[in-house]
Amino acid sequence: MNMQSPKSNKLNNIEAANRLRHGSPQFKAVLRQRCRKQMQERRDKLFNARRIGLDDKDECIENTLTEIVRREFKEWIIEEFNRMHQYEMDMMDKYLEEIMKNELVCPMCEKGTITQLNDFFVCPKCQLSLPAKVTMDDFYQRVKNHSVDHAESCNLKPCFMVIPEQNSYSLYMGCEPCSYFGLIL
Ligand SMILES: [Zn+2]
Ligand SMILES: [Zn+2]
Repeated sequence: MNMQSPKSNKLNNIEAANRLRHGSPQFKAVLRQRCRKQMQERRDKLFNARRIGLDDKDECIENTLTEIVRREFKEWIIEEFNRMHQYEMDMMDKYLEEIMKNELVCPMCEKGTITQLNDFFVCPKCQLSLPAKVTMDDFYQRVKNHSVDHAESCNLKPCFMVIPEQNSYSLYMGCEPCSYFGLIL
């Protein structure tokens, strides 16, 4: 059994992209909420001031109006930034999909590219050899899905391990600190 099995950099990228994608909407929502609240408070203040006629100086009203415009502009900038950010995230996803298409970096050594040789998935750089129970695409998807699943709740790097089972070998992904354990193949 090989417990020493760091994950590939490409998978790290996927995890990072995933964390960003899942993490940022919350941040955006808070930002928007705060901005709207401030705008609302400003408007209420202006409305009340005019209604009770305490602050009828032109300068004061103008300052408040300028402040409202400034804040509206700020909110517009934030929304623009968020749209841009989303666009960049989509581009990054597409880029990652592209570079990972039909190419699975060996999860055990992170050096070789997994290829199928007869009925086995093998790595030319290390001794990894697994019975090809699924297609190459499925193998790639399983590694990706488990990595994304794990990254949703843990920032640590999981390890891959090959375990002999019933005259065969299986590949697992595990992370001791968060107790993640999943059969990949
Ligand atoms: Zn390898
Ligand atoms: Zn973990």
